[in-house]
Amino acid sequence: MSDRITVFKGDGIGPEITDAVLRILDAAGAGLEYEIFNVGEAEYEANGALIPDEAFESFEKTRVLLKSPITTPVGKGFRSLNVMMRKKYDLYANIRPAKSNAAVKTPFENVDIVIFRENTEDLYAGVEELVDKDTAHSIKIITRKCSERIIRDAFEYAVQHGRKKVTCVHKANIMKISDGMFRDIFYEISKDYPQIESDDKIVDNVAMQLVMHPQKFDVMVMPNLYGDVLSDLTSGLIGGLGLLPSSNLGSGYAMFEAVHGSAPDIAGKGIANPTALLWSACMMLEHMGKMDCAARIRRAVDQVLNEGTATTPDIGGTAGTEDYTAAVISKL
Ligand code: ATP
Repeated sequence: MSDRITVFKGDGIGPEITDAVLRILDAAGAGLEYEIFNVGEAEYEANGALIPDEAFESFEKTRVLLKSPITTPVGKGFRSLNVMMRKKYDLYANIRPAKSNAAVKTPFENVDIVIFRENTEDLYAGVEELVDKDTAHSIKIITRKCSERIIRDAFEYAVQHGRKKVTCVHKANIMKISDGMFRDIFYEISKDYPQIESDDKIVDNVAMQLVMHPQKFDVMVMPNLYGDVLSDLTSGLIGGLGLLPSSNLGSGYAMFEAVHGSAPDIAGKGIANPTALLWSACMMLEHMGKMDCAARIRRAVDQVLNEGTATTPDIGGTAGTEDYTAAVISKL
């Protein structure tokens, strides 16, 4: 029997990379049925809703969402759709693995970092006010509940995946109360995992060390904003945004998406790299227990990247999305 999943086709390069990924999933025999919805700016222009009600209903039924990048219209009073989805479904754990691929040359080798980014609070809580015309406040919120669950997930992941170390990233020297609490909770929870090494580092120091000695880092856990910034940095270490997948997990719902945005500068040109969304789909298959199928797709991608003849321009190749997709399918 097929498993049903919900698919959001977004804006910019979203539809192109979604089509590529669904074709690869079918060719790999993933055994999935799709409930596909157009969402985002283009859908708003066409039908007046950024995300149609049926799309929400579908996700509430299937509980698994493969989401391509969506653009939130600027200047029309909308909150970020990405932030809204994470909050609405309490998708508190944003997991972003960045692993070097020998075929993609960068100045850095053997990077294998998994960032656990808290996804629901910190400066993303949306608590902002204009105090007077020259003064704006934005409130940073850190709670015990949200800190505990993301930190525990990071340690659990380390145990389950045979990782050695979890690093807590913070700025507790300045934000002594909020980030201080995050760090204290980290060390409380670390006591339950004596087999995993634990340490903490200040975020600016981490930014420097990541580009000098990225191999020193393993699993990392941090509040929302640091996770946003540092995971773009780790994508740069492995060859760019076209290669960074993510999962957003929590409360019985799971959403899988590329870390990159809708890349309007290359939309419709047929050169977008679907790998980040494809690897997100592999994380989705693993979440659904379809380990063999995920492994088969990962092997096919590795072969295509290693051969280097059908890769997209963002990672130094000359092929288009279509050629890359066909090449991956031919290896399955
Ligand atoms: P957002 O604010 O929505 O995260 P952004 O402004 O950070 O988006 P992206 O859309 O992520 O920007 O794109 C940043 C750069 O990376 C752009 O130049 C874009 O063309 C490139 N890029 C992003 N994703 C891909 C991809 N899948 N394939 C090729 N290039 C990409």
